[in-house]
Amino acid sequence: MRDCFILLCAGKSKRFKSKINKQFIKYKNRPLFEHSLQTALDSKLFKKILVVSNRKIKKNYKNVDIIKGGKERHNSTKNALIYLKNKKIRNVFIHDAARPNLSINLLKKLKNQLKKNSAVVPYLNSENSVKLKINTGIKNLKRDKVLFTQTPQCFNFEELFNLYKINKEKITDEASLYINRNKKIKFILGEKKNFKITTLDDFKILNSDKYYGIGFDIHRLIKNKNLYLGGIKIPFHSGLKGHSDGDVILHAIIDGLLGAMRKNDIGSLYPSNTKKFKNIRSKNMLLPVLETLNYNNFTINNIDINLICEEPKVSKIRNKIINSISNLLSINKNLINLKGKTVEKLGIIGKEKAIACEAICSISK
Ligand code: ZN
Repeated sequence: MRDCFILLCAGKSKRFKSKINKQFIKYKNRPLFEHSLQTALDSKLFKKILVVSNRKIKKNYKNVDIIKGGKERHNSTKNALIYLKNKKIRNVFIHDAARPNLSINLLKKLKNQLKKNSAVVPYLNSENSVKLKINTGIKNLKRDKVLFTQTPQCFNFEELFNLYKINKEKITDEASLYINRNKKIKFILGEKKNFKITTLDDFKILNSDKYYGIGFDIHRLIKNKNLYLGGIKIPFHSGLKGHSDGDVILHAIIDGLLGAMRKNDIGSLYPSNTKKFKNIRSKNMLLPVLETLNYNNFTINNIDINLICEEPKVSKIRNKIINSISNLLSINKNLINLKGKTVEKLGIIGKEKAIACEAICSISK
Protein backbone atom coordinates (compact mmCIF):
# COMPACT_ATOMS: atom_id res chain seq x y z
CA MET A 1 0.00 0.00 0.00
CA ARG A 2 2.01 2.91 -1.28
CA ASP A 3 -0.78 5.08 -2.63
CA CYS A 4 -1.56 8.63 -1.62
CA PHE A 5 -4.89 10.45 -1.76
CA ILE A 6 -4.49 14.15 -2.48
CA LEU A 7 -7.53 16.27 -1.66
CA LEU A 8 -7.51 19.66 -3.35
CA CYS A 9 -9.26 22.28 -1.20
CA ALA A 10 -7.41 25.41 -2.24
CA GLY A 11 -9.74 26.65 -4.99
CA LYS A 12 -11.10 30.16 -4.76
CA SER A 13 -14.62 29.13 -5.82
CA LYS A 14 -14.96 32.05 -8.23
CA ARG A 15 -18.19 30.68 -9.71
CA PHE A 16 -19.72 29.87 -6.33
CA LYS A 17 -20.67 33.45 -5.31
CA SER A 18 -20.65 32.94 -1.55
CA LYS A 19 -18.55 34.47 1.23
CA ILE A 20 -17.39 31.05 2.35
CA ASN A 21 -15.23 29.00 0.00
CA LYS A 22 -17.36 26.12 -1.19
CA GLN A 23 -14.94 23.49 0.15
CA PHE A 24 -15.71 24.72 3.65
CA ILE A 25 -19.43 25.27 3.36
CA LYS A 26 -21.48 22.97 5.59
CA TYR A 27 -23.10 19.96 3.93
CA LYS A 28 -24.80 17.35 6.13
CA ASN A 29 -23.39 19.05 9.23
CA ARG A 30 -19.74 19.04 8.19
CA PRO A 31 -17.53 21.07 5.83
CA LEU A 32 -17.82 19.88 2.24
CA PHE A 33 -14.19 18.72 1.99
CA GLU A 34 -14.54 16.41 4.99
CA HIS A 35 -16.89 14.12 3.09
CA SER A 36 -14.32 12.92 0.56
CA LEU A 37 -11.65 12.98 3.25
CA GLN A 38 -13.75 10.61 5.35
CA THR A 39 -14.37 8.34 2.35
CA ALA A 40 -10.63 8.16 1.67
CA LEU A 41 -9.96 7.35 5.35
CA ASP A 42 -12.75 4.77 5.50
CA SER A 43 -11.53 3.05 2.33
CA LYS A 44 -8.24 2.12 4.07
CA LEU A 45 -6.64 2.15 0.61
CA PHE A 46 -4.05 4.85 1.28
CA LYS A 47 -0.67 5.00 2.94
CA LYS A 48 -0.95 8.75 3.10
CA ILE A 49 -3.69 11.34 2.76
CA LEU A 50 -2.79 14.88 1.92
CA VAL A 51 -5.11 17.88 2.13
CA VAL A 52 -4.06 20.95 0.14
CA SER A 53 -5.67 24.10 1.48
CA ASN A 54 -5.08 27.83 1.61
CA ARG A 55 -7.34 28.18 4.62
CA LYS A 56 -6.22 27.02 8.04
CA ILE A 57 -7.76 23.68 8.94
CA LYS A 58 -7.82 23.59 12.72
CA LYS A 59 -8.99 20.06 13.25
CA ASN A 60 -6.42 17.30 13.40
CA TYR A 61 -7.18 14.21 11.38
CA LYS A 62 -5.28 11.05 12.13
CA ASN A 63 -2.84 10.09 9.36
CA VAL A 64 -3.65 13.20 7.33
CA ASP A 65 -1.09 15.84 6.38
CA ILE A 66 -2.21 19.34 5.53
CA ILE A 67 -0.15 21.58 3.25
CA LYS A 68 -0.62 24.98 1.68
CA GLY A 69 -2.03 25.24 -1.83
CA GLY A 70 -1.00 27.40 -4.74
CA LYS A 71 -2.67 30.15 -6.70
CA GLU A 72 -4.32 27.83 -9.22
CA ARG A 73 -5.29 24.18 -9.11
CA HIS A 74 -2.19 23.03 -10.98
CA ASN A 75 0.02 24.97 -8.55
CA SER A 76 -1.65 23.17 -5.66
CA THR A 77 -1.12 19.77 -7.25
CA LYS A 78 2.51 20.64 -7.88
CA ASN A 79 2.94 21.63 -4.21
CA ALA A 80 1.51 18.27 -3.21
CA LEU A 81 3.76 16.31 -5.57
CA ILE A 82 6.86 18.15 -4.33
CA TYR A 83 5.80 17.42 -0.74
CA LEU A 84 5.45 13.71 -1.55
CA LYS A 85 8.82 13.42 -3.30
CA ASN A 86 11.07 10.93 -1.48
CA LYS A 87 8.10 9.55 0.49
CA LYS A 88 8.09 6.32 -1.54
CA ILE A 89 4.65 6.92 -3.04
CA ARG A 90 3.72 4.70 -5.99
CA ASN A 91 0.39 6.17 -7.10
CA VAL A 92 -1.48 9.38 -6.38
CA PHE A 93 -5.25 9.85 -6.46
CA ILE A 94 -6.01 13.54 -7.01
CA HIS A 95 -9.51 14.56 -5.97
CA ASP A 96 -11.48 17.81 -5.93
CA ALA A 97 -13.01 18.58 -2.55
CA ALA A 98 -16.03 19.92 -4.44
CA ARG A 99 -17.09 16.32 -5.19
CA PRO A 100 -18.33 15.22 -1.78
CA ASN A 101 -20.14 12.06 -2.89
CA LEU A 102 -17.10 10.07 -3.87
CA SER A 103 -17.63 6.36 -3.23
CA ILE A 104 -15.25 3.72 -1.91
CA ASN A 105 -16.42 1.56 -4.78
CA LEU A 106 -15.07 4.04 -7.33
CA LEU A 107 -11.78 4.27 -5.41
CA LYS A 108 -11.45 0.50 -5.55
CA LYS A 109 -12.18 0.37 -9.28
CA LEU A 110 -9.56 3.05 -9.95
CA LYS A 111 -6.98 1.29 -7.80
CA ASN A 112 -7.61 -1.95 -9.62
CA GLN A 113 -6.98 -0.30 -12.99
CA LEU A 114 -3.73 1.20 -11.74
CA LYS A 115 -2.25 -2.30 -11.68
CA LYS A 116 -2.12 -2.24 -15.49
CA ASN A 117 -2.15 1.48 -16.29
CA SER A 118 -0.15 4.49 -15.21
CA ALA A 119 -3.03 6.93 -15.63
CA VAL A 120 -6.68 6.18 -14.79
CA VAL A 121 -9.43 8.77 -15.00
CA PRO A 122 -13.18 8.40 -14.38
CA TYR A 123 -15.58 9.94 -16.88
CA LEU A 124 -19.24 10.26 -17.75
CA ASN A 125 -20.85 10.67 -21.14
CA SER A 126 -23.09 13.62 -21.78
CA GLU A 127 -26.82 13.20 -21.32
CA ASN A 128 -27.42 16.30 -23.41
CA SER A 129 -26.86 16.70 -27.11
CA VAL A 130 -23.48 18.31 -27.67
CA LYS A 131 -22.43 21.02 -30.15
CA LEU A 132 -19.02 22.50 -30.74
CA LYS A 133 -18.53 26.15 -31.62
CA ILE A 134 -15.92 26.53 -34.35
CA ASN A 135 -14.85 29.52 -36.45
CA THR A 136 -17.18 28.62 -39.28
CA GLY A 137 -20.24 27.97 -37.10
CA ILE A 138 -21.55 25.13 -34.97
CA LYS A 139 -20.72 21.44 -35.34
CA ASN A 140 -22.73 18.51 -33.99
CA LEU A 141 -20.74 16.15 -31.80
CA LYS A 142 -21.62 12.55 -31.08
CA ARG A 143 -22.69 12.30 -27.45
CA ASP A 144 -20.77 9.08 -26.82
CA LYS A 145 -17.59 10.66 -28.14
CA VAL A 146 -17.66 13.38 -25.50
CA LEU A 147 -16.15 12.57 -22.11
CA PHE A 148 -16.75 14.57 -18.97
CA THR A 149 -13.81 13.80 -16.73
CA GLN A 150 -14.33 13.48 -13.00
CA THR A 151 -11.93 13.05 -10.11
CA PRO A 152 -10.12 11.29 -8.47
CA GLN A 153 -7.68 11.16 -11.34
CA CYS A 154 -5.04 8.57 -10.60
CA PHE A 155 -1.45 8.40 -11.76
CA ASN A 156 1.86 6.76 -11.28
CA PHE A 157 3.60 9.23 -8.98
CA GLU A 158 6.97 9.44 -10.78
CA GLU A 159 5.38 9.84 -14.19
CA LEU A 160 3.04 12.62 -13.06
CA PHE A 161 5.84 14.31 -11.12
CA ASN A 162 8.02 14.42 -14.22
CA LEU A 163 5.21 15.71 -16.40
CA TYR A 164 4.49 18.48 -13.90
CA LYS A 165 8.17 19.38 -13.75
CA ILE A 166 8.28 20.25 -17.45
CA ASN A 167 4.75 21.68 -17.71
CA LYS A 168 4.39 25.39 -18.40
CA GLU A 169 0.69 25.47 -19.26
CA LYS A 170 -2.28 26.30 -17.09
CA ILE A 171 -4.29 23.08 -16.88
CA THR A 172 -7.65 22.42 -15.23
CA ASP A 173 -7.04 18.74 -14.50
CA GLU A 174 -4.21 16.25 -14.61
CA ALA A 175 -5.76 14.35 -17.53
CA SER A 176 -5.14 17.46 -19.67
CA LEU A 177 -1.45 17.17 -18.92
CA TYR A 178 -1.40 13.61 -20.25
CA ILE A 179 -3.52 14.47 -23.28
CA ASN A 180 -1.32 17.46 -24.17
CA ARG A 181 1.68 15.13 -24.24
CA ASN A 182 -0.17 12.37 -26.11
CA LYS A 183 0.23 10.01 -23.21
CA LYS A 184 -2.18 7.14 -22.67
CA ILE A 185 -5.00 7.38 -20.14
CA LYS A 186 -7.28 4.53 -19.15
CA PHE A 187 -10.77 6.00 -18.87
CA ILE A 188 -13.26 4.18 -16.67
CA LEU A 189 -16.92 4.97 -16.09
CA GLY A 190 -17.36 7.36 -13.17
CA GLU A 191 -20.43 7.85 -11.02
CA LYS A 192 -23.22 10.35 -11.55
CA LYS A 193 -23.52 11.08 -7.85
CA ASN A 194 -19.85 12.08 -7.85
CA PHE A 195 -20.81 15.40 -9.40
CA LYS A 196 -18.95 18.62 -8.81
CA ILE A 197 -20.41 21.53 -6.89
CA THR A 198 -19.57 24.60 -8.94
CA THR A 199 -22.33 27.11 -8.32
CA LEU A 200 -24.51 27.92 -5.33
CA ASP A 201 -27.39 26.33 -7.26
CA ASP A 202 -25.52 23.00 -7.40
CA PHE A 203 -25.16 23.22 -3.67
CA LYS A 204 -28.85 23.90 -3.21
CA ILE A 205 -29.65 20.80 -5.27
CA LEU A 206 -27.25 18.74 -3.17
CA ASN A 207 -28.54 20.14 0.07
CA SER A 208 -32.19 20.17 -0.89
CA ASP A 209 -34.25 20.59 2.22
CA LYS A 210 -36.33 17.75 3.56
CA TYR A 211 -39.47 18.30 5.57
CA TYR A 212 -41.66 15.90 7.50
CA GLY A 213 -45.31 16.04 8.44
CA ILE A 214 -47.44 13.80 10.61
CA GLY A 215 -51.14 13.19 10.19
CA PHE A 216 -53.70 11.42 12.39
CA ASP A 217 -57.39 10.72 11.90
CA ILE A 218 -60.17 8.64 13.43
CA HIS A 219 -63.77 8.05 12.33
CA ARG A 220 -66.63 6.13 13.83
CA LEU A 221 -67.82 2.96 12.04
CA ILE A 222 -71.53 2.86 11.23
CA LYS A 223 -73.82 0.43 9.42
CA ASN A 224 -75.23 1.10 5.96
CA LYS A 225 -72.30 3.07 4.73
CA ASN A 226 -69.55 2.20 2.26
CA LEU A 227 -66.04 1.88 3.66
CA TYR A 228 -63.46 3.93 1.82
CA LEU A 229 -59.76 3.51 2.65
CA GLY A 230 -56.91 4.99 0.65
CA GLY A 231 -59.35 6.22 -2.02
CA ILE A 232 -61.01 2.88 -2.78
CA LYS A 233 -64.14 1.07 -1.66
CA ILE A 234 -63.34 -1.84 0.65
CA PRO A 235 -65.95 -4.63 1.06
CA PHE A 236 -66.96 -4.44 4.73
CA HIS A 237 -70.10 -4.58 6.88
CA SER A 238 -69.76 -0.92 7.96
CA GLY A 239 -68.44 2.37 6.74
CA LEU A 240 -66.85 5.41 8.32
CA LYS A 241 -69.07 8.23 9.49
CA GLY A 242 -67.98 11.71 8.57
CA HIS A 243 -68.69 14.92 6.80
CA SER A 244 -66.94 13.38 3.79
CA ASP A 245 -66.55 9.68 2.96
CA GLY A 246 -64.54 9.31 6.18
CA ASP A 247 -61.41 7.93 4.49
CA VAL A 248 -59.04 8.01 7.47
CA ILE A 249 -56.01 7.06 5.39
CA LEU A 250 -56.36 9.91 2.91
CA HIS A 251 -57.22 12.35 5.69
CA ALA A 252 -54.08 11.39 7.62
CA ILE A 253 -52.00 11.73 4.42
CA ILE A 254 -53.52 15.13 3.66
CA ASP A 255 -52.66 16.34 7.17
CA GLY A 256 -49.16 14.84 6.88
CA LEU A 257 -48.52 16.62 3.59
CA LEU A 258 -49.96 19.91 4.84
CA GLY A 259 -47.83 19.56 7.96
CA ALA A 260 -44.67 18.98 5.93
CA MET A 261 -45.48 22.07 3.85
CA ARG A 262 -46.29 23.97 7.04
CA LYS A 263 -49.78 24.83 5.77
CA ASN A 264 -52.00 24.29 8.82
CA ASP A 265 -54.39 21.35 8.66
CA ILE A 266 -57.22 19.65 6.78
CA GLY A 267 -59.83 21.55 8.83
CA SER A 268 -58.64 24.90 7.54
CA LEU A 269 -59.01 23.65 3.95
CA TYR A 270 -62.36 21.91 4.49
CA PRO A 271 -64.28 23.42 7.41
CA SER A 272 -66.82 20.80 8.53
CA ASN A 273 -69.50 23.47 9.01
CA THR A 274 -69.49 24.23 5.28
CA LYS A 275 -72.30 22.53 3.37
CA LYS A 276 -70.48 22.45 0.03
CA PHE A 277 -68.05 19.80 1.27
CA LYS A 278 -70.80 17.48 2.53
CA ASN A 279 -70.24 13.90 1.30
CA ILE A 280 -67.16 14.93 -0.65
CA ARG A 281 -64.96 12.04 -1.79
CA SER A 282 -61.62 12.23 -0.01
CA LYS A 283 -59.66 11.64 -3.20
CA ASN A 284 -61.03 14.97 -4.41
CA MET A 285 -59.92 16.57 -1.14
CA LEU A 286 -56.36 15.61 -2.10
CA LEU A 287 -56.36 17.72 -5.28
CA PRO A 288 -55.71 21.21 -3.80
CA VAL A 289 -53.03 19.70 -1.54
CA LEU A 290 -51.23 18.23 -4.55
CA GLU A 291 -51.58 21.54 -6.38
CA THR A 292 -49.90 23.31 -3.46
CA LEU A 293 -47.13 20.70 -3.47
CA ASN A 294 -46.48 21.20 -7.18
CA TYR A 295 -46.82 24.96 -7.00
CA ASN A 296 -44.12 25.08 -4.31
CA ASN A 297 -41.86 22.61 -6.15
CA PHE A 298 -42.12 19.92 -3.51
CA THR A 299 -41.76 16.24 -4.31
CA ILE A 300 -42.81 13.39 -2.04
CA ASN A 301 -39.94 11.24 -0.76
CA ASN A 302 -41.98 8.61 1.01
CA ILE A 303 -45.10 8.00 3.07
CA ASP A 304 -45.45 5.58 5.96
CA ILE A 305 -48.94 4.73 7.20
CA ASN A 306 -50.32 2.95 10.26
CA LEU A 307 -53.90 1.79 9.87
CA ILE A 308 -55.26 1.11 13.35
CA CYS A 309 -58.20 -1.32 13.45
CA GLU A 310 -59.18 -4.89 14.31
CA GLU A 311 -60.93 -5.43 10.97
CA PRO A 312 -60.54 -5.38 7.99
CA LYS A 313 -57.19 -7.16 7.99
CA VAL A 314 -54.60 -4.93 6.41
CA SER A 315 -52.67 -7.80 4.82
CA LYS A 316 -55.68 -8.51 2.56
CA ILE A 317 -56.12 -4.95 1.32
CA ARG A 318 -52.56 -3.61 1.50
CA ASN A 319 -51.62 -3.92 -2.19
CA LYS A 320 -54.92 -2.50 -3.43
CA ILE A 321 -54.61 0.52 -1.13
CA ILE A 322 -50.97 1.15 -1.98
CA ASN A 323 -51.80 0.98 -5.71
CA SER A 324 -54.61 3.46 -5.22
CA ILE A 325 -52.50 5.95 -3.21
CA SER A 326 -49.71 5.60 -5.74
CA ASN A 327 -52.17 6.56 -8.51
CA LEU A 328 -53.74 9.40 -6.57
CA LEU A 329 -50.41 10.98 -5.63
CA SER A 330 -48.63 10.03 -8.89
CA ILE A 331 -45.72 8.52 -6.99
CA ASN A 332 -44.02 5.16 -7.22
CA LYS A 333 -45.57 2.33 -5.19
CA ASN A 334 -42.28 1.61 -3.47
CA LEU A 335 -42.41 5.02 -1.79
CA ILE A 336 -45.51 4.01 0.16
CA ASN A 337 -45.63 1.71 3.16
CA LEU A 338 -48.81 0.55 4.88
CA LYS A 339 -48.75 -1.17 8.26
CA GLY A 340 -51.68 -2.68 10.13
CA LYS A 341 -52.01 -2.27 13.86
CA THR A 342 -54.62 -3.86 16.12
CA VAL A 343 -55.25 -2.60 19.65
CA GLU A 344 -55.79 -5.81 21.65
CA LYS A 345 -59.57 -5.27 21.57
CA LEU A 346 -59.14 -2.15 23.71
CA GLY A 347 -61.30 0.96 23.57
CA ILE A 348 -63.55 2.13 20.77
CA ILE A 349 -61.19 0.80 18.05
CA GLY A 350 -60.84 -2.57 19.79
CA LYS A 351 -64.63 -2.89 19.92
CA GLU A 352 -64.66 -2.27 16.14
CA LYS A 353 -66.60 0.97 16.50
CA ALA A 354 -63.93 3.12 14.87
CA ILE A 355 -60.90 3.04 12.59
CA ALA A 356 -57.91 5.32 13.06
CA CYS A 357 -54.90 6.07 10.92
CA GLU A 358 -51.62 7.90 11.26
CA ALA A 359 -49.28 8.81 8.41
CA ILE A 360 -45.91 10.42 8.20
CA CYS A 361 -44.95 12.14 4.95
CA SER A 362 -41.52 13.28 3.84
CA ILE A 363 -41.14 15.88 1.10
CA SER A 364 -38.22 17.69 -0.54
CA LYS A 365 -37.94 21.07 -2.23
ZN1 ZN B 1 -61.23 12.45 8.68
